[in-house]
Amino acid sequence: MTSTESYAMPVDPKSQPKSGDGPNPVGVHKKLAEIVQRAGEFQDQIQIALTQAQKPKVRDQGLELDLEAENSSNPLDLKGSGGDHRALDGRDIDVCIRVRPLLPPEMARGFFPTTFVTRNCSVLSLEPRVDVRGAPRVKAHDYDVDFAFGPDHSNQHVYDHVTRPLIERGLKGGVCTLLAYGQTGSGKTFTIEGILRKLGRDLLQSSRAPPWLTAEMNESVLKLHMAFYEILGHRATDLMQETRPDITIMEDKFGQMIVKEASEVQLISGDQFEAVVDRAMSHRRTKTTFKNDTSSRSHAVCAIRVENTAMPAAEHGRIFVIDLAGSESASDSQFHDRSLIKETQMINASLMALKECIRNRALSALNPDKFYHIPYRNSKLTLLLKDALEVESHRQCKTVVMACVSPSCGDVAMTLNTLRYVAPIRVGQSNREKIPPNPKNPANWSNSELRHWVETTSKGSVNPDILCPFESGRQILRLSEIDFLTRVLESNPKMGEKRAKVFYVSLWKKLIDCRTAIRKQKLKAKPQRSGFEPYDLGEELAKQAAEQTDEQMKQENERRFNELRTFHIRS
Ligand code: ADP
Ligand code: MG
Repeated sequence: MTSTESYAMPVDPKSQPKSGDGPNPVGVHKKLAEIVQRAGEFQDQIQIALTQAQKPKVRDQGLELDLEAENSSNPLDLKGSGGDHRALDGRDIDVCIRVRPLLPPEMARGFFPTTFVTRNCSVLSLEPRVDVRGAPRVKAHDYDVDFAFGPDHSNQHVYDHVTRPLIERGLKGGVCTLLAYGQTGSGKTFTIEGILRKLGRDLLQSSRAPPWLTAEMNESVLKLHMAFYEILGHRATDLMQETRPDITIMEDKFGQMIVKEASEVQLISGDQFEAVVDRAMSHRRTKTTFKNDTSSRSHAVCAIRVENTAMPAAEHGRIFVIDLAGSESASDSQFHDRSLIKETQMINASLMALKECIRNRALSALNPDKFYHIPYRNSKLTLLLKDALEVESHRQCKTVVMACVSPSCGDVAMTLNTLRYVAPIRVGQSNREKIPPNPKNPANWSNSELRHWVETTSKGSVNPDILCPFESGRQILRLSEIDFLTRVLESNPKMGEKRAKVFYVSLWKKLIDCRTAIRKQKLKAKPQRSGFEPYDLGEELAKQAAEQTDEQMKQENERRFNELRTFHIRS
């Protein structure tokens, strides 16, 4: 596996920004230059902030500095939680932070570290500023997460604490996802490559078989299949092949996510695993950007399918390890050409879609009675992760978001952006009970429930041993109509095609009736909006609106709407 070692700033005079283009990078750099020049003056402030942050209940003591407790309103704030990592179980989504070391080119430019791991599950980011009187000040932002890893923590340490408990679920038939998120150059690829290297050895080198890989899950029972995709915007390609052909990520008729035309290899050894990962990573699209000379411009998805041969009726386990494309600020993209800017927009849009899905899922967990739309169809990445994002997912799911950040004072704004991106994800971590699967829905039936239905509905004329020898309801519904009818006729040739078809339709009708009922129930729970929403009322109007009845409000809105329309027609 090759890891990106260099960190050079490409300077292309042709692509230098013209004055007036976008944000004002010159102003930003001027301020940064002043901060770097006065680095020594900030050190005392940083030390004080660090000492105070390391004390328990730091926020209750009141800092002299401008300390901002970012997530003090978080209901699950870990105030005074001591210094231990949180256990990675019981919740569906965990947030980790990894602060990489300061890199030699950053040191050479005089940058100093301003983001630190204070306790094992807290990160302190200090924003250096020069106040109006010219005095150096630091604004502190304190974030609590489930795991925080500092510059001294190795990939092995990260793997042991985060990935190992996560993939155990995948091996047992669940869906587990590890996402590395962060600014370009923050260490995402470094982390993912390190984790994949260890994962391959753990899973496939029987001489080093981990103790948690118990007898019933050993390699004679489990078959592992690996695929590698690259996703950029609405396009997904197969990284297993050098030509990177397009693949299709879509839902099948049961809402199950499928990836069409993607190649898969069966994994047999740790070395083979590593070779496959190396090859796939080398096919990844990278471009030189301001932040990283091999910036990854797409999401790379390593998808491992776990087939349990002892239980053919069971859904296959899924392990997704995803190196997300780097998020970029406006100043990072100041030297981009048109195509690179378009790519950046696509990357940021899909990262926003991911955030929207995770956030709404978290909010839905917090307020189970409310309806929250999880827009996983908005991007190919979120569609691929449908099982992990859906609230009603009937599978065991676990997602870990690993936010990678740079410690450098030059990157503090983007570090804060990353921390702000991941902070709301932790909101919905109350132990919400899973919605029990609807027993009337044939997609939730076990083999014995399906057999019972076949026997009673066909009044014994269809033999379940032939129609569904081991399949679950979902598996039998996935059969094509022809296969289904063939099996029915094989079991009872006298039945005739017409009756066999009626039997097939009756199973499908059950599924559709259940889906319709669920949708109706949710829409009922969804807060109803009147067709006439007051559009941006000022304070005065808002007060008036509060005193109006629904009917008055509707009339008022209609009047305003007509006024506005008349105005538009006239102008
Ligand atoms: P990204 O994928 O987020 O754009 P990279 O993983 O390519 O960033 O990392 C950028 C640079 O930082 C690389 O040179 C990499 O070797 C180095 N790096 C990142 N994280 C670490 C770490 N934890 N320890 C040492 N070097 C690191
Ligand atoms: Mg990368």
